[in-house]
Amino acid sequence: QVHGYKGVKFQNWARTYGCCPEMYYQPTSVEEVREVLALARQQNKRVKVVGGGHSPSDIACTDGFMIHMGKMNRLLQVDTEKKQVTVEAGILLADLHPQLGEHGLALSNLGAVSDVTAGGVIGSGTHNTGIKHGILATQVVALTLLTADGTILECSESSNAEVFQAARVHLGCLGVILTVTLQCVPQFHLQEITFPSTLDEVLDNLDSHLKKSEYFRFLWFPHSENVSVIYQDHTNKPPSSSANWFWDYAIGFYLLEFLLWISSFLPGLVGWINRFFFWLLFTRKRESSNLSHEIFTYECRFKQHVQDWAIPREKTKEALLELKAVLETHPKMVAHFPVEVRFTRGDDILLSPCFQRDSCYMNIIMYRPYGKDVPRLDYWLAYETIMKKVGGRPHWAKAHNCTRKDFEKMYPAFSKFCAIREKLDPTGMFLNAYLEKVFY
Ligand SMILES: Cc1cc2nc3c(=O)[nH]c(=O)nc-3n(C[C@H](O)[C@H](O)[C@H](O)COP(=O)(O)OP(=O)(O)OC[C@H]3O[C@@H](n4cnc5c(N)ncnc54)[C@H](O)[C@@H]3O)c2cc1C
Repeated sequence: QVHGYKGVKFQNWARTYGCCPEMYYQPTSVEEVREVLALARQQNKRVKVVGGGHSPSDIACTDGFMIHMGKMNRLLQVDTEKKQVTVEAGILLADLHPQLGEHGLALSNLGAVSDVTAGGVIGSGTHNTGIKHGILATQVVALTLLTADGTILECSESSNAEVFQAARVHLGCLGVILTVTLQCVPQFHLQEITFPSTLDEVLDNLDSHLKKSEYFRFLWFPHSENVSVIYQDHTNKPPSSSANWFWDYAIGFYLLEFLLWISSFLPGLVGWINRFFFWLLFTRKRESSNLSHEIFTYECRFKQHVQDWAIPREKTKEALLELKAVLETHPKMVAHFPVEVRFTRGDDILLSPCFQRDSCYMNIIMYRPYGKDVPRLDYWLAYETIMKKVGGRPHWAKAHNCTRKDFEKMYPAFSKFCAIREKLDPTGMFLNAYLEKVFY
């Protein structure tokens, strides 16, 4: 019989959200997950599955039963001909990469970190950049879903196709994702080139940058014109690195955190910090090459609050210039660097922020130096107002203030998703406070 634990406290990676589930389970098999759901049905409890716990919101929180998928983390099947692999949903991408490598395979795109699970990244619509590449969920060709009543649904384009169209970005509300089949590509190396530019230059030549580099993104340093452009492209060059402990850690982490902490008392310093660190760390061209997953991911050293909305790609310039103008006209509103701007191909997944349109993701952050929260509400509100005005849709994993009314306007297929959810989970077993705001 599956063993549960009382008194476990769950906290997300950034320690910005947490909860105390009544019972905490770490099942090792489908049968054990089924047992937890049966218990939840008997006792009328809610259930929340958690993967890597990286979501910067309360999307994975519950005071009911929590199922941690960390022990269901095997690579189950490799089809080398089709270049497809089937994994248990609790596998960390960090553990998957070397196993894919043994078969000469890799994922075609990744988010910034790999300590996240297959089930979790698809659930929240995790994305990276590259206008020819979709969000990570577009790499899913099949999945299995255990629903509230204990039924297992095999879902793909050819089987339970409607559920499949919904479940690739599932928000954790359709059931327990047990396995995911991913379309891979042959293992590849990437070269990353980083060079300085200005906001005007990048916005005026956006199409050209998008054409020049397969995985193009840029970092804007608020309170300035400064931009760091990042190109990542396939290469045959041997691995090389431009990492340097002194600049990356002593300056880019320890000194920066200290100065950000000082600026929490003297907010006027933030603009200066942004410009100073651009000058110190981003005015030199840097190059490095490595296996794709080593280049896609980077070490996120700072705990932080974030917002990340997807807007129609053609609105990139308008939205960024408006954000810049708001910061200029409100000198007391401060914004930490960087604003990270990424691009993603449109798709047909019902609740994908890129549903039916190529998109630009604009990620804003406010760091928490030494764990201290820095006031951010004015900045957050100004950003959200602009994002809504240009037709944006918030990242599901990252905290936002939207409710059902907003989502009905944002997502043409919202009611279709709701109907599927209500059919699969009529009693709302997989809901939590976050999802109630989305669906009620
Ligand atoms: C440092 C850092 C960097 C990040 N970088 C990026 C980035 O580059 N791009 C981006 O888009 N996002 C990024 N994120 C956000 C992150 O990718 C998402 O929060 C992602 O969902 C985390 O995966 P996870 O396994 O931790 O999921 P969790 O946070 O554990 O869960 C996410 C959702 O999926 C559900 N869930 C998880 N597993 C299952 C399952 N098996 N069955 C049913 N439901 C399940 C949970 O209930 C929850 O609703 C970043 C986050 C951090 C902290």
